[in-house]
Formats: sequence, C-alpha cells, structure tokens
Amino acid sequence: MNRGSSEQPSTGALDHSGPRRYKASIRITLIGVLVNIGLATAQFVVGIIGHSQALVADGVHTLSDLISDVIVFLAIRQGSKEADREHPYGHSRFETVATVAVGVLLGVAAVGIVMRAIERLLEPGEIIVPTLSALIAAAVAVGAKEALYRFTIIVADRFDSSLLRANAWHHRSDALSSVIVLVGIGGSIAGIPALDSVAAIIVAMMIGRIGWRLGWEATQELVDTGLDEHQISELKSAVMEVEGVEGLHMMRTRRMGGRALVDLHIEVDGEVSISEGHHISEKVRCFLLDNFEELTDVMVHIDPEDDQFEEDIEKLPNRHNLEEALKEHFERLPHAPAVEHFNFHYLNRQVQVEAVVSLSALPHEGDLFGFRDLLRRSLADCADDPVLGLVSSIDVLYH
Ligand SMILES: [Zn+2]
Ligand SMILES: [Zn+2]
Ligand SMILES: [Zn+2]
Repeated sequence: MNRGSSEQPSTGALDHSGPRRYKASIRITLIGVLVNIGLATAQFVVGIIGHSQALVADGVHTLSDLISDVIVFLAIRQGSKEADREHPYGHSRFETVATVAVGVLLGVAAVGIVMRAIERLLEPGEIIVPTLSALIAAAVAVGAKEALYRFTIIVADRFDSSLLRANAWHHRSDALSSVIVLVGIGGSIAGIPALDSVAAIIVAMMIGRIGWRLGWEATQELVDTGLDEHQISELKSAVMEVEGVEGLHMMRTRRMGGRALVDLHIEVDGEVSISEGHHISEKVRCFLLDNFEELTDVMVHIDPEDDQFEEDIEKLPNRHNLEEALKEHFERLPHAPAVEHFNFHYLNRQVQVEAVVSLSALPHEGDLFGFRDLLRRSLADCADDPVLGLVSSIDVLYH
C-alpha cells in the first residue's frame, strides 16, 4: 500500500503529477489494447487457416492479457457505481467474481491447448505442418509486441510510472511468448514438425499461469483475506500517530476490488467525553483515508481500555439500575445533598462513580469532605450488593 503525501489529495492511480502524465499513460495503454485486439484476431484467423496450434495459443495469450487489462481498468474506475440498498459496500465484488471466472476459463483454455497439442503429436502418420502465412503472422506479432514494449517504456521513464513500467515488461514477456511461437512454426516448416505443438504447450503454460494468478488473487479477496503484515503494521503506526490515541486492538482488514477496508478499536483516555472520543475516532478515520490511497472505508470503534479479552460485560449494571441503587443509598445517609447528575466510568470490569452536587445544596461548607468520606465508608459495606458491589470508587464533584 502506498502512503500518498498528505498535502496532496489523491485523484486516481495514474494522476500524481498533472494531467499530461495521465493523458500520456492512458494513450499508451489504449494503444497497447488496440494493437493486442488486432493481434489476437489475426493470430486466431491465421492460426486456424495456417494449421498452427502455437499461433492459436498465442492468440489466447493475447486475449487473456486483454481481459486482465479490462479488469484492471474497471478496478481503477471504481467510483462508477456507488453503493445502493442491496449492495451497501458497493459493487466491486462483482468484478472479483468475474475475475475468478476469467481465471477458470483461462485454465480450461490452457488445458485444452495442451490436450490438442498432445493429440496432434500422438496422431499416427505425418504431423500437419503450419503454412508460411502462420510464420509471417508470428513474426508480425513479435515485432508488434517488441514495439509496444519500447514505446511504453519510453513513456514510463518520462513520467516515472511504475505501473506503466510493469505494463512495458509485460509486453516484453508477451514478445518472448511470440518468439517461442515463431521458433516453433519456423522449426516445423524447416523439418521438425513437432515443434509447433511443443511451442503451443509452452505458451499454454504461460496462459495457465495468468489464469492461476487472476483466479487465486480474486479467490483470496472473496474469502476476505486480510492485507499483508507489512501493510498492517504501516496502518497501525499511522493510527498511533493520531493525537489522543493511546492504543489499538482488533484491527481487521480486507480487500474489495483493488481497494481495502479496515475496522479497528482505538483506546482513548477513559475520562474524556463521548464527543471528544468521537472526535479522536474521526481524526483517525480521516488520517487513514488521506494517507493510504487504497483505503476506501474505515470503521473506528472507541474503547476506554483494551477490552479484547473481556467477556462479562453483561454483568455490569446500566445507568437506570445504578442510579436507583445509589439514590436509595444516599437517602439512608444523614445530611445527604441532592445529586444533580451521576457520571459513570465503566473501567476494569467495574464502575467508577462521580456524583455531581451543587455547593448550595450542602447545609454547611465544612461538610464538603465529611460527606464524601462518609459515602465512601458506607459504600465499602455494600461489597455484596449485586449493583453497588460493582462500584469500584466514588467521588463527589461540587460546583
Ligand atoms: Zn501476457
Ligand atoms: Zn461518527
Ligand atoms: Zn475493543
């Protein structure tokens, strides 16, 4: 996951240094797609007419690259279809399911090519030899793919784009695939007829690899595999940078169509108000969204302490029960002032109580501490009470 600079808002995968770079990147990518469409068509047609299994296999390879390009393009254009009532997390998982299907299809195609090639190799009698037109088509494919590599790498270097550089090297590996086909067809024509089918098998293995990669990654996403260790530790240290965060636990991550989602519990000072705790959690959310391009959804839960191994929260009384028990208790004490409000702090599986009392409600000023001490002593006797027994400390705040 790339941490973008916080000063500069991110506006998409390709656009970091201006529209010129974006345009050039789109143009060279589009040229690659168009050339590959032409090539795939030519390879299929000439491959079938010219009896070359290797050329047909290379056509499938070209086609599979096209499909994975389309998937990447759709993933980049993620904002296109927003979440709706039926799909509250958006629609990118449709893409993921489609990717699994494409991966399976490519696997099937690869197996099919290998089987046809083996069949031809084992056929009794003379092996069919590809025609000269197949050889020419293979040569054109090598030239076209090498040219794509050269042009793409120039643009990649000019704008220092790692995405385009990866694309360029893919064109080069495709050129290699076509070289294998060229050698296979050439060898067949030159007198070793089996070479065309052997080349087809090698190319089929390349197709199988693409299919496996697409299918595996998409399946990982569908079963909600988390981000990798390195990315998670980057996220964690970013969260800890936010002012007011004292700790974090239960961070969970998952992927969705090239994007990432995270939810986590942060620990904040148990004495801060709900609104301050919420403010800190919003700071965390915005900080993560601003600094991690891939993230599109952050859910922050606020905790006053690390509660991940706590189970008996059910036993703690709610406000209603606590207030009732405390008021009853107050009434039994001599000279008890009226309590305006109780603050409850649920910490360490117990409740800390603050009783807010108006100074004017006290009969004599001297009772200020006397009453508090009396209250504490009397509460110590309530250790067996199902409600008051869970009060760990009590304080009286005068105002
Ligand atoms: Zn390829
Ligand atoms: Zn909120
Ligand atoms: Zn928690």
